[in-house]
Amino acid sequence: MQFKPFSISRLPRISYGRGRLNEVPALTASYGGKALLVTGKQSFCGTERWPSFIESLEMQGVRWLHVTVSSEPSPDLVDQTVSRFGGEAIAVVIGIGGGSVLDAAKAIAGLLPHGNSVMDHLEGVGRNIPYRGPSTPFIAVPSTAGTGSEATKNSVLSVQGPEGFKKSFRDECLIPEYAVIDPDLLESCPRDLIAADGMDAFTQLLESYVSLKANPFIDALAWSGMTAFKEGFFAAWEGQEPEAANGRAAMAYASLLSGITLAQVGLGSVHGLASPLGAFFPIPHGVVCGTMVAAATEINIQAIEAREPDNPALAKYAQVGRLLIGRNDIGDSVARDLLIELLAEWSETLQLPRLGNYGIRVADFAKIVANSRGSSMKTNPIVLTDAEIEAILQRRL
Ligand SMILES: [Zn+2]
Repeated sequence: MQFKPFSISRLPRISYGRGRLNEVPALTASYGGKALLVTGKQSFCGTERWPSFIESLEMQGVRWLHVTVSSEPSPDLVDQTVSRFGGEAIAVVIGIGGGSVLDAAKAIAGLLPHGNSVMDHLEGVGRNIPYRGPSTPFIAVPSTAGTGSEATKNSVLSVQGPEGFKKSFRDECLIPEYAVIDPDLLESCPRDLIAADGMDAFTQLLESYVSLKANPFIDALAWSGMTAFKEGFFAAWEGQEPEAANGRAAMAYASLLSGITLAQVGLGSVHGLASPLGAFFPIPHGVVCGTMVAAATEINIQAIEAREPDNPALAKYAQVGRLLIGRNDIGDSVARDLLIELLAEWSETLQLPRLGNYGIRVADFAKIVANSRGSSMKTNPIVLTDAEIEAILQRRL
């Protein structure tokens, strides 16, 4: 093991377990004053949990306001919500939903005390004004298992279209005060979302594990997350009870860990590409990751074998191969081949849509590649050439 210097930034206080949603009303009340609830249109509000949650909030004496988010959030949505609720003296923001809801709630909480536009602070496309906080306290309650947004300091916002972008509003002040992870909330998650979001969580764990900034502390968490993923993913996806309940518990845990690891050591080529793909085309983030992780892993392994045979990521890919296949008796090279094969097999089993289904054409590759070298690509275990990045896209067109 190599002991190079590393730093670990702040984490939310974490409460994990079935039924933990029941803790949220008392937590909310502990902040005093009004709460702003941010949810999806259906994922939580459309379930029977909503009326009983509201009843418990009111029994705790909490006054609340509510806003819904129906798609991946844009800077406009954040700005409009901040100006709508800015005069309400909101004491705490509660986000209950998938990654889009949590990212929107995180940015809204960050800007409510200030009232300025998120474009002042958005990386790469904003006005580059430093954000100094404070944020309104934020409690994150994920209802999908994928993005790990409950553990991160960034809110991903996008404007979609040919001139679009997908960029982060990022600051330590934005880290949620609490992440409350209740695997039972995944019960209402449709099967295709379990597949795509679960593959996002796995991709985040794998990319963190082989990241250029990897360290032994975060490796241990990434490994624990991938072990949970292996145990629970297909059970959660297949949906046969009682195994599915354990699967959801494993996936909620894996997703949380993926958020922690990505926030600490960064990601890689799949997420580097996810940013322009999600900006220019109507393709959900989980689908981007799930559909490309096999090809990206193969291209990365080939590039490292050819150019940097001493790169520590090679041995790590082999370890992940042995973990997922469940065999300890195979050498590194075979383990890597089997990892690539297994990931490709999963893409087929899960019927993850190809990029072409979202209107992506070969003619778009140059523009996608040119916009893929943002923060995630910088921690990819090897610097890929433009041709290698294109090859990843080509395999999943
Ligand atoms: Zn992701």
